[in-house]
Amino acid sequence: MFNIVIFGKPGSGKGTQADFLKNKYDLYHISTGDLFRKNISNKTKLGLEAMFYLDKGDLVPDSVTIKMLENEVLSNKDVNGYIFDGFPRTHSQAAALDAFLAEKGEGINGMVALEVTEDLLVTRLLKRGETSGRSDDQDELKIRNRFNEYETKTAVLKDYYQDQNKYFGVDGIGSIDVITKRLCEIIDKL
Ligand code: ADP
Repeated sequence: MFNIVIFGKPGSGKGTQADFLKNKYDLYHISTGDLFRKNISNKTKLGLEAMFYLDKGDLVPDSVTIKMLENEVLSNKDVNGYIFDGFPRTHSQAAALDAFLAEKGEGINGMVALEVTEDLLVTRLLKRGETSGRSDDQDELKIRNRFNEYETKTAVLKDYYQDQNKYFGVDGIGSIDVITKRLCEIIDKL
């Protein structure tokens, strides 16, 4: 299997790039944010549990998120590999993912990270909020809270993957095509 994590702050372009990469490398795309939003719109028990966190821009508790991720992998087993988008977002999630994949004799080949400055991200997210309908994109305080969650809980994952020589950052500013090329240059060598 070939498994990659696409990493970056909210609004850095993970979902956009994952859409290209899943086709190019024939990977199954798992976006935890999309899964939560799907559950919220279908009013499932998981959705009802998650909606308060998403609306505030807080991370959903690890136990809930990890279980959802594992279920998604287990329901989509016949694939060449996965592109994980928005997961892991905490140290516990990263450790759980490694353990879960190791049980299957698999692992993460690499993490590719989109590096973008916060000011540009706020502009991008507010713009997205005009059409996405996402309440967490429409309020600068909620956006700042997501950055705060990122700094306090998620940023440590750079070191987690760097310690395994699996972290590869790219400049996430530029046209979509140029950024895709930057990512592919790295992924081709993994
Ligand atoms: P963005 O990267 O723009 O913040 P996402 O769609 O990836 O958008 O995530 C939206 C929200 O979903 C997060 O703010 C959080 O509430 C929840 N979420 C997504 N992934 C995770 C995760 N791995 N752990 C906890 N919460 C998550």
